[in-house]
Amino acid sequence: MVLSDLGQKITASFNKLSQAPIIDDELLDEVLKDISSALLHADVNVRYVAKLRGDVKKRVLMEGEEGGTNKRKLIQKCVVDELIGLVSAEKEPYKLKKGKCNVIMFVGLQGSGKTTTCTKYAHYYNRKGWRTALVCADTFRAGAFDQLKQNASKVRIPFYGDYQETDPVKIAGDGVELFRKEKYDLIIVDTSGRHKQETALFEEMLQVEEVVQPDDIVFIMDAHIGQACFEQAKAFRDTVNVGSVIVTKFDGHAKGGGALSAVAATNCPIVFLGTGEHFDEFQPFDPSSFVSRLLGMGDLKGLFQTITEAMPLDKQPELLKKICKGKFSLRDLYEQFQNLQKMGPMGQVMQMIPGMSNMLPQGAEKEGAKRIKRFMVMMDSCTDAELDCEVVMSDSRQLRVAKGSGSHPAEVGQLLEEYKRMEKMVGKMGKSGLFGKGGDMTQ
Ligand code: GDP
Repeated sequence: MVLSDLGQKITASFNKLSQAPIIDDELLDEVLKDISSALLHADVNVRYVAKLRGDVKKRVLMEGEEGGTNKRKLIQKCVVDELIGLVSAEKEPYKLKKGKCNVIMFVGLQGSGKTTTCTKYAHYYNRKGWRTALVCADTFRAGAFDQLKQNASKVRIPFYGDYQETDPVKIAGDGVELFRKEKYDLIIVDTSGRHKQETALFEEMLQVEEVVQPDDIVFIMDAHIGQACFEQAKAFRDTVNVGSVIVTKFDGHAKGGGALSAVAATNCPIVFLGTGEHFDEFQPFDPSSFVSRLLGMGDLKGLFQTITEAMPLDKQPELLKKICKGKFSLRDLYEQFQNLQKMGPMGQVMQMIPGMSNMLPQGAEKEGAKRIKRFMVMMDSCTDAELDCEVVMSDSRQLRVAKGSGSHPAEVGQLLEEYKRMEKMVGKMGKSGLFGKGGDMTQ
């Protein structure tokens, strides 16, 4: 993931805190200096880094005065809160309204991933049961029409465009009118981009906005553009009524911090992250889940949302009950792997599970997915008693499983280590009471 370096550096600073015998002002300064330099390295805007450092220090000094406060926890909490603040916007994102025709207009520079993202967005809501349609009002880029048309047909979404017409405003107006008449729930309008911000682009955007009267305008921002994001986001926002942002190419090697902090500056919430070229490589953005994942703490909120979306309802209570009781066998791990495979891109799901993100070598989700398949083959060679953890996995048992699955005994050892780590984690989750008693999440 973009920013995983940042996450590792901040986690290392937290570890430094945990290991220090005394937490004095000097150590606090040192830790904040490390965190600030990691943020700057990730391209986070210097103004926000300075603010974060000052705010954490102020809060720690103030709240630390109160008796009984655990300073280590306080510093960690302040840093986490500030990071969440950095990627949050005060403004609520637009929520699609049921029973209404929602029109969403997409804007952004050429190459930012606008056309691909329109399709991902349409596909995402279509899978949730919304009747979605796409309109191509990009007459500037040769091939945009064909690209969106092909994308739309791949995900089976109705599409409107016109080869002959050169006026994007007319196409946008006609397309939206057509789909409004047909009572679509969600109409997505892809507009032209340019290589750089220029008057013609902004004028055209304004005219399209006027004619389609969108409920929301989504600004598409490429994670690679670093510090330049700030000015870019601001220019778009000052011209049209941008209400949300989607940051694309979050799967690459971009530093990413520039995009995230620029978004906070313009006060438009990030609503999704694009994490690959495929249409399902697209994740809703939630600031606290994002920061949890960044710091390797897992994202239980996101995980349960994904499970709710992807798993049959009657399966859920079982899983929750197990977690609540803090019980977890090798068979449960096997079932988890099976469920994960059903849930779409493995990397995305894995990062949401506390402790599981380690199973994925960095930036190599495909490798991680293969590794999980190998683990499953090993578990296929286990007996029922072994899967239910009723017997100790002795060396001879491990050797038998290795032989049976055609793997190296060391790999079986790795599987058992991963299992133990997960079991410990599930135990902690159960004790935390986070999920209520007996799997009732409403408690
Ligand atoms: P547009 O000019 O803004 O409409 O950009 P396109 O949608 O044509 O995308 C430009 C390139 O970026 C294409 O090669 C896309 O496949 C790629 N792209 C778009 N979104 C993502 C993403 O989230 N991750 C990656 N890796 N590539 C992306």
